[in-house]
Amino acid sequence: MKQKFEAIEADKVYDKSLFDIPNAYSDSIQSVLIPPGLIRNRVSKLARNIANELPENVEAITLVCVLKGAFRFSSMLMEELVKLTDIPVIMEFIRMKSYHNDVSTGDVQILGELPSNVIKDKFVVVVEDIIDTGKTMKVLCEMLNQLGPYKCLIATLLWKELQTEREVVPHYVGFLIPDVFVIGFGLDYNEFFRDLDAICVINEYGKEKFKI
Ligand code: 5GP
Repeated sequence: MKQKFEAIEADKVYDKSLFDIPNAYSDSIQSVLIPPGLIRNRVSKLARNIANELPENVEAITLVCVLKGAFRFSSMLMEELVKLTDIPVIMEFIRMKSYHNDVSTGDVQILGELPSNVIKDKFVVVVEDIIDTGKTMKVLCEMLNQLGPYKCLIATLLWKELQTEREVVPHYVGFLIPDVFVIGFGLDYNEFFRDLDAICVINEYGKEKFKI
């Protein structure tokens, strides 16, 4: 059964000619899915939801940024959170890898470790760019939960609308998106497109041009 979440359904695409796309990428993009202003506004609302739902005794929020894709989302979420709370917002980083070109290898790797003292008894929000099958999140959450956080929540900017059962259920979701390969706002295709401000759908020409 399909679940319903508080999230914007990004099921409409915009013609790329309506946006200011860098020349290096314009021929590689099929369409714009989420324009930059909409990303900013939604992240601001997610921050407000997190701030409103903070347990009373929490002394700091530890964001765990899942590199590399979530670096822009994490940074924006931190910016918005500090406007709304009086407690410190700490950022930790972990690196995960599972994709080659636009295909999941199915083999989720954690590159680098977090010392247990940065997670133990802390209020943790894992910040992810996109959840597809949820395999990556499942591996990471199992690892983090072994380190004994006070709470470990998941915030993802994007969630692909798959019909299948998911491995994990995030607490905060920015946008529900169709099952297409997206790039931009930190999300890459072989390290390219992270610098694009909008979240876009890559085209076949782009996949070929930046293939490794
Ligand atoms: P999952 O383990 O949930 O299937 O996949 C999650 C990871 O796969 C994300 O952290 C991201 O690195 C990568 N991924 C999944 N879908 C996309 C996509 O549409 N675009 C990009 N750039 N990466 C994706």
